[in-house]
Amino acid sequence: MTSYAPLPVTFVKGKGVWLEDKAGERYLDALSGIAVCSLGHAHPTITEAIADQAGKLIHTSNLYHIELQEKLAARLCKIASMDRAFFSNSGAEANEAAIKLARLYGHEKGIGKPVIVVMEGSFHGRTMATLTATGNPKVQDGFGPLLEGFKRIPYNDIKALETLAERTSDIVAVLCEPIQGEGGVNVPAEDFLTRIRSICDQRGWLMILDEIQTGMGRTGKWFAYLHENVVPDVITLAKALGNGVPIGACIAKGRAAELFAPGNHGSTFGGNPLACRVALTVIETLEANNLISRAEAMGNYLRKQLEVALKNLEGVSDIRGKGMMIGIELERECGDLAQSSLEKRLLINVTAGNTIRLLPPLVVSKEECDLIVKTLSDLIKSFLQK
Ligand SMILES: *Cc1c(COP(=O)(O)O)cnc(C)c1O
Repeated sequence: MTSYAPLPVTFVKGKGVWLEDKAGERYLDALSGIAVCSLGHAHPTITEAIADQAGKLIHTSNLYHIELQEKLAARLCKIASMDRAFFSNSGAEANEAAIKLARLYGHEKGIGKPVIVVMEGSFHGRTMATLTATGNPKVQDGFGPLLEGFKRIPYNDIKALETLAERTSDIVAVLCEPIQGEGGVNVPAEDFLTRIRSICDQRGWLMILDEIQTGMGRTGKWFAYLHENVVPDVITLAKALGNGVPIGACIAKGRAAELFAPGNHGSTFGGNPLACRVALTVIETLEANNLISRAEAMGNYLRKQLEVALKNLEGVSDIRGKGMMIGIELERECGDLAQSSLEKRLLINVTAGNTIRLLPPLVVSKEECDLIVKTLSDLIKSFLQK
């Protein structure tokens, strides 16, 4: 169906940060399939894990124990200080699980119509519940009626959350991204999450973080909430968790981790041996190669170099981000840059209309960062001169 308008290119293979099209042309991938292929393309360790596991066992069912799923759950929970995990096949499904947990949590407290607080500019997925939670009219238009039970505040506005808390009695949770991805790489104030945490504690709400884009090392920590000294109640993951093999997770601690009972949530594919083997291998590979501290160092380098190259350039309003998640905001709409960048053999993305988004694989080298900066700053300069 016509749900996408793809750029005029077809890739046939990849290696590390490079992709190759049908004609044999090479492209530097500074997007990683939207924060998915953090280890780069065709990573040999991942390829080996997929091949080996496919030769042993791909799928059984959650009707039986799955050792690799139990191992992955334990591993993720240890890294994230959580207690239990539910596995899905995508980010939207991970968020669906989190939303259902919040509603169970409310009902358990005797709240018949529980409300989840969500943010303007957010993105949580394309299913009915997650598009309702999403703060972007383009994602919602035409799909009404939307779901009940969501209230929206501006991102990074603690005052608005406090005011809403005073006025609304049925709130059970806050759901937000620690850095908004689709919304334009919006980095909140340094204590934003800490203050959400303390309001959630005071009021007995669940703090749910959508780490689908920010998680698995992208921002220079395992999860973006680790930049602040807080622990949420529920975390959702997907994208880089499988380096391209579909897998999502909703991990939780405390009461939130115990709310699902046998029979009230499920997934046929979720947490199958193949996906879990890959995710375990992703975690091991990130650790064995120190890729998370590298994401921080190389991300800082890339952002610095972009600042130098675009310094004092009229028309560039902001350069922001954390680690390997970088946004360059221009003063005007610049969606066409994705196409002109493709012509220069560099893959980038434009989000929120006027923000160039870079999400390179965490294995990107310094030289490749320099190439991104050179290609992109030339493109931006000529775009702004038009
Ligand atoms: C990509 C994304 C999702 C949706 O994930 P899908 O796998 O496309 O369903 C949800 N939340 C955030 C923050 C995302 O970046």
